[in-house]
Amino acid sequence: MIVVLQKNITTHNKELIHIYLKDRGFSVREQNLGDDIIIGAFGKGVADIRELGILPGVERVTATSKPYELASRETKNENTIVTVGGGSTPAVKIGGSRITMIAGPCAVEGKEKIMEIAAMIRESGAVILRGGAFKPRSSPYSFQGLGMKGLEYMKAAGEAYGMPIVTEIVSPELAEPMKDLTDMFQIGARNMQNFELLKKVGSLGKPVLLKRGPSATIEEWLLSAEYLMASGTKDVVLCERGIRTFETYTRNTLDISAIPVVKGLSHLPVIVDPSHAVGIRAMVSAAGLSAIAAGADGLAVEVHQKPDEAFSDGAQSLFPEQFEKLMRDIEAMAPVMEKELLRTPKPHFAFSGSAVFAQEQNKTSKTDEQSEEQIVFCGEAGAYAEQAIMRVFGEDSKRVKVDTFPGIFDAVLEGKAQAGVVPVENSLTGSIHENYDLFLRYPDVVIVGELKLRIVHCLIADERADMDSIKIIRSHPQGFAQCKDFLDKHPDWILEPVTTTASAVASIAKDGAVKVAAIAAEAAAKIHGLKVLREGIETNPLNYTRFLIIARRLAPVPSSLGSAKPNKASIVFSVQDEPGSLFACLKILSDKGLNLSKLESRPITGKPWEYLFYADVSIPDSEESFDSVIEELKAKAKDFHFLGSYRASL
Ligand code: PEP
Ligand code: MN
Repeated sequence: MIVVLQKNITTHNKELIHIYLKDRGFSVREQNLGDDIIIGAFGKGVADIRELGILPGVERVTATSKPYELASRETKNENTIVTVGGGSTPAVKIGGSRITMIAGPCAVEGKEKIMEIAAMIRESGAVILRGGAFKPRSSPYSFQGLGMKGLEYMKAAGEAYGMPIVTEIVSPELAEPMKDLTDMFQIGARNMQNFELLKKVGSLGKPVLLKRGPSATIEEWLLSAEYLMASGTKDVVLCERGIRTFETYTRNTLDISAIPVVKGLSHLPVIVDPSHAVGIRAMVSAAGLSAIAAGADGLAVEVHQKPDEAFSDGAQSLFPEQFEKLMRDIEAMAPVMEKELLRTPKPHFAFSGSAVFAQEQNKTSKTDEQSEEQIVFCGEAGAYAEQAIMRVFGEDSKRVKVDTFPGIFDAVLEGKAQAGVVPVENSLTGSIHENYDLFLRYPDVVIVGELKLRIVHCLIADERADMDSIKIIRSHPQGFAQCKDFLDKHPDWILEPVTTTASAVASIAKDGAVKVAAIAAEAAAKIHGLKVLREGIETNPLNYTRFLIIARRLAPVPSSLGSAKPNKASIVFSVQDEPGSLFACLKILSDKGLNLSKLESRPITGKPWEYLFYADVSIPDSEESFDSVIEELKAKAKDFHFLGSYRASL
């Protein structure tokens, strides 16, 4: 049973509730769950829920139908986001709309070796380093790990490359010595039901990666999470790593269906370890990709620089090149899953250690407190642009609404916001020219990032409405255009265009009419407590909107965008009115092998029949050759504007 307390409850009233519950045979634990302060009442106590509900300071009482309560989605509906690290490494989040990649060797095998593999996996995009210092081996004669020394090496490698670390704890006595060295504890599959270990680790309050036991049911797994949470930590990440079945071809059987099942039952993030699940290197990536497709919040993958010489689990460890390929595949898949592959800033100097990294962190803005960055968008809460911000800057980012697209540029220029998001193009309906043109009106605003967001449109209406009661549809004209096939099936509906999809939803919430529906994102329906009548009504499921992230020229790039080198630039130019002039400009790009991913012409305002060309080009590895291309283009073109360079979104 969960007792949710009022925010302003007095200490005295809180004590009375504790006493009330204890007197009735419950063991109690108070903790913060999201924004709520709750008291979990466990055990075989008996209490009248209605009587409890009217005690002073009680907001509500929830009797859960599951034996696990703190871990249950019935107790907390929104997804938990676990933060690992921070301080001497970037803070890494697991859960929500991101895919978090954990990688490293099965075991720490030596100082140089862990440094080398940490550098490699970091280069491919891993954000947390894994590795066992204490190895729970099935045979007592197998390598047992380097112990505390190994953990020290790992911490040093994590700090050198800007990654928090996760490592397995095998006995409660190790909790104290390990707690300041590791950022996250791993409870191994063999120890999932070692309850004394769970209680001790839970009491430290640090994030825990809880592997599923090879023979554990989902309910047993969640009860183990409950042990950790009831002992004091709220940051538990569940890890499916394969279970024992009659199949012997693979080391275990990856229980893919456990991912959506557990996500339904619990608010905790779920990641997958495909390495221990299949045990055969050639199949690890396929299993990992399928886990992402099934909704996993990330992967933990074993990678070794020389798998054939690994002290343990070499057969299932990926070569670094295989891990690199897996990362690329996941990056390509992420938008389909409506997620973003998480990136974190890297320390500027390899092997420079924690001190330099911490200084760098302080100089620029903070990664773990992204809420300090105010990001501006046009529209209402629940707009796709707001989702774009959450994907790039995190759910806890500070989001500021304005009513017009130029308002975004104004807010950024005046320093009221660190960045803004502007939709410029949709994969079904093409460019949003008005927004493109704003870049010319605001030369001191530059593009610093890009996000391609998958757009899933829903038909949203009042709780009492149904398909037959609907007569009027409200949305942005782009929303109508993107759902043309669906709307064509209902020729009697009257279409009412409004300024944003989210404002269409807000207007229905206000009217409460059963004959009006909106085309917008599911998030907007949730915010206004409305019903989704149909989901996925866009004509083509490959429906993406491209948002550009803008900032003031010369202002520091928001740290949430990571420190990866830009690989794409946007330019605008016009050419002389003579034969071959456009060709001459494009030839400069082609001679230097620069890919042109977009070229579009626009009429120049106030100059009838004269045109500007908007182009997106790839940036080669060598910056000098890019600079020389830009110089040549400037010389050849009539007018030239550099809109910004950024990391391309896949
Ligand atoms: C490991 O992650 O190295 C490990 C031993 O995993 P599991 O507990 O899932 O077997
Ligand atoms: Mn292993």
